[in-house]
Amino acid sequence: MDNYLRDLILPNPSDSTKPFLPTAFTLSETYEKFCAHYKELGRDPGQIQVEIKDDETTNPISWGRFWEFWTTDYKYLKKLGKKTDFCTVCCKLKHTINSRTTDYETKEKTQEELQIHLKSASDARAAYNNHKITAAVIENKAVISMDYAENIMLPVLQETPGAFYFKTRRKIDIFGVTNEANAPNGSIQVNFLIDEGHKIKKGPNSVISMLDHYIRHNVSLNKKSLILYADNAGGQNKNQYLVGYLTYIVKALKRFDEIEFYFLISGHTKFSPDSHFGTIKSKLKRIECKSIKDIVGPNGLIQKSAINNIDLPYKDPHTKTKNFVWKDWKAFLSSKFKSCDGISEWHAIKIRKEGTKISVSKYITEEYEDYQIMNDNVIFLEDEGPVILEPEPIGAKRIEELEYFKDFIEEEHWEFIATNY
Ligand SMILES: [Zn+2]
Repeated sequence: MDNYLRDLILPNPSDSTKPFLPTAFTLSETYEKFCAHYKELGRDPGQIQVEIKDDETTNPISWGRFWEFWTTDYKYLKKLGKKTDFCTVCCKLKHTINSRTTDYETKEKTQEELQIHLKSASDARAAYNNHKITAAVIENKAVISMDYAENIMLPVLQETPGAFYFKTRRKIDIFGVTNEANAPNGSIQVNFLIDEGHKIKKGPNSVISMLDHYIRHNVSLNKKSLILYADNAGGQNKNQYLVGYLTYIVKALKRFDEIEFYFLISGHTKFSPDSHFGTIKSKLKRIECKSIKDIVGPNGLIQKSAINNIDLPYKDPHTKTKNFVWKDWKAFLSSKFKSCDGISEWHAIKIRKEGTKISVSKYITEEYEDYQIMNDNVIFLEDEGPVILEPEPIGAKRIEELEYFKDFIEEEHWEFIATNY
């Protein structure tokens, strides 16, 4: 547990003895996440050292003991509120600068590093705001942003029974793609909802499949130029396959004349998907959601949260129709495109129809360099494409765990909480 929490906390630049817990979760939510994390580790005792309580729950530690541990050993942890945006890089650099043990030379160097970091963050923010404004007026240009939200756990009841924290509720992943062009009336976001029973293995295939669906259905064909923004954190948005996919739709499919792909430094810019997720989460605090049935449709949580929030579940719980499919983009793209060495440093990528190269840059204001992304002698055949992947259904043991929640909800919701519907 110590290890788990140590990975979570961030240094507090103004007081190093009071680090932040960088979450917007309540203590009980943190407990739930801790238990889920532990289960994913497969009970490896070397990973987490906690005493396993022998009761009928499968959780590593009881809620009571968790609370006790938290309030004694971690009482100094200040909770970082939802409104406070902290960048991990800033926090770490400021910590080095403020630390008594850092020598003068290192302080100077770190100060310089911080200035460069702040400059690049503010340049990226300026470009983003500028793109949002121009998107509304330039007819053939689409500007979109995408991100994953923290997942939703169902059921959500007006009063949460304490016993809920001994179990992991049904998980719904949310991936948002925002059309920024609707300003000043507010951007519109399509929220892809992926129920626990409809997921494929985490990785580039999910993100690319959803982005591809969005581009095909939500970006009109007269848009010949695409600007895409993603968060810099996490490999789901920043990987060779996503860059390969964008290159494929420009150079092979000729869907766009050009694509620009930018990574925002998280913690420095108010990013549209975050605002949309914020509205959804705050609505969720005020209403009950027994299953995904209460999330989807005109009377569902997402559409009720704001008129510019649209829901798109993998499978509609009301009609049982599939709205989109998963595809094996990774296998399809890997033989055609190179591995994008150095991608973690890239913050701006430009892809044009001509040639086999793309242009990449460390910062949006810096000079671009060519990168040879296509493998030699690649041929794109007209009828080829990625194969469809079927989701991995929930296993019997997990279904059994989910059965527990049936006692708290009406029968119409049972199927969506405790089966592979
Ligand atoms: Zn920063």
